[in-house]
Formats: sequence, structure tokens, C-alpha cells
Amino acid sequence: MLLKPQKPVKEKYLTSLRLFYIDMSRWSSKSVEERIKFFEAKKPICYCCGGTGLVKDTSQRCVVEGLKYADYITCPVCNKTGFTTIERIRQNYRDELNWYKEKLNRYRKELSIYNSIKKKLTKEEFEWLIYQ
Ligand SMILES: [Zn+2]
Repeated sequence: MLLKPQKPVKEKYLTSLRLFYIDMSRWSSKSVEERIKFFEAKKPICYCCGGTGLVKDTSQRCVVEGLKYADYITCPVCNKTGFTTIERIRQNYRDELNWYKEKLNRYRKELSIYNSIKKKLTKEEFEWLIYQ
């Protein structure tokens, strides 16, 4: 079977650093307005711990209960401050954008191969390939 490559979706949060931060910090107990206030004060909330400075110890993960009974440990990203830096968010944002661009490039290559195959076959041959 030959499947037409699907164009990767560019998530809305990849359109600006601010939207990226808001999306990444969505697990925080703070409201969007509060999170933006911290962001504008150049003291964005750490999105690893949601601003609490503590995270569950993943080495205590249970196959049945997951992290339900795991102890809290100091957040390794912010070292218990509950805050991160704009630079770190910017770097994560760039990494995500680059990951999306790689997916888009791979899609374009695959689409070009797909179209090249389609062009070389008759309509019947192509349909036969599609519906196998
Ligand atoms: Zn943290």
C-alpha cells in the first residue's frame, strides 16, 4: 500500500515565544494571567515543576501506580526556586521549532517521492497500489 505523506501540523504554541511558554507551563497551578505576569517580569515559572520547586522522584516509578506514591524531590531544572530563565525557554522554543522544521523537510522529501511514483504509473497501476 502507498500512503500519501501527511503534512505535519504546526502547533499554535510554535508561533511565538510567549505562546510557547504559556503552553509549556500549563501544568502549573497558576492561572495564565499569573504566568504571563512572571514571564513579563523576566522570571518565568519553571515548567518542569510548575513553580513549586518540587517534582516526583521518577526513580520510584511503579509499574502499576506510576508516580502516585513516589516522594517529592528538588526540581533538577530550577533547583527548588520554581523559576526558570527566558534564555532557557528561548532555547527550548528553538529546539521545538527546529524539530518541526525537520519534520516539514522530511514531509517535503516524501511528498516529492510520492508524486514522482504517481507520475510514472498509469491511473490503474496507481490505484492498484493505493488500494492494496
Ligand atoms: Zn522547577
